[in-house]
Amino acid sequence: MFGLFAPAPVTPRTYSDCSGCSLCLLACPMWRKHRDPRFSAEAVAKGLQCGAVAAELARPLEACSLCGACDPVCPEGIDLPGLIMDLRLQLANSLPAPPPRQAALDDLHARMRQGAGDAAAQAEISRAAPLLLPGPELRADTAVLARVRALLGLVVVDDDGADISQALELGAVIPQARLESFLASLRGHSIVAADGLLLRQLRRWLPGSQRMGLGAALSTRVAVRSNLGESDLYVIEPRAFHADHGRMVGFYDRLQRETGCLINLDLQRMAIPATAHGLAQEAGEMAADDDAQARWILQGRKPARIVVESLADLAAFKRVCDLPVVHLAELGEDPEMIQRRPHAFG
Ligand code: SF4
Ligand code: SF4
Repeated sequence: MFGLFAPAPVTPRTYSDCSGCSLCLLACPMWRKHRDPRFSAEAVAKGLQCGAVAAELARPLEACSLCGACDPVCPEGIDLPGLIMDLRLQLANSLPAPPPRQAALDDLHARMRQGAGDAAAQAEISRAAPLLLPGPELRADTAVLARVRALLGLVVVDDDGADISQALELGAVIPQARLESFLASLRGHSIVAADGLLLRQLRRWLPGSQRMGLGAALSTRVAVRSNLGESDLYVIEPRAFHADHGRMVGFYDRLQRETGCLINLDLQRMAIPATAHGLAQEAGEMAADDDAQARWILQGRKPARIVVESLADLAAFKRVCDLPVVHLAELGEDPEMIQRRPHAFG
């Protein structure tokens, strides 16, 4: 049985276990932006301990970018992004949404109903094929998508769960039939996902499956690694990184040693998103501050080129500097050359 916040195999730790150590606050981009301790996972956990309900915590819940940076630093092992998504769900049920968000929610509910009806078609994908969940941005960039396909040799699925990911962002209830139709087409496959939030949830929904973020999958390719060098700043997509932090720290540490490139892994900018959106920005209610985030990641660094895992970051860095900015998939050879060589997943 699937639920949005299905219990982990061991007894999950929750807000009542928060000791108030403040480590999550130091890693949090919304705290960095507001410089106000109320904007942190700690404030949410402590507020709940004091009896607050979701509506009283609306401001930090809406400002959170779900980047996941608080998750690996919490010594109590509390799933803080999961807690915040859970509270957003309660928030949507307790406060009327502003008109732009309500319109986004209405559209989303219609798409999820449609997606549940497409279940049979999705289940017919060839069983052995490793799959790519591209997400809307990569799907729209056909040139980069062609390179990703050539490098990784994956089947691009029609149903990449973009509506489910948006529901996680907005705190919308995911109908059971819709979730099941999405997961039915993924079972038994290796999965590469461009959307780090979806990747995080797939860990819960499909335990034991082989999953990887798009950036990490691309950077395993020799054609990509051999084109990274000391003058590059490599910008990690943070949600996928934090969702599998224990493994990814070692992975990127090796990448850095082998290629010599700079990576956004220093203490406070440890895979912080260049595009750190809260809920209100996701729903188009206020201007995004992507440019400030991108400038902050560049602060004190003088790369000759910026290499990004996320297409959203690509646009932000192009706006704030005149350095060349490329997606990871654009490194290396032409797709036709790559396609002549055999691939293995992983
Ligand atoms: S998910 Fe990111 S923005 Fe949200 S509380 Fe955690 S560190 Fe802060
Ligand atoms: S890191 Fe964990 S225990 Fe420490 S303040 Fe944050 S939520 Fe509480």
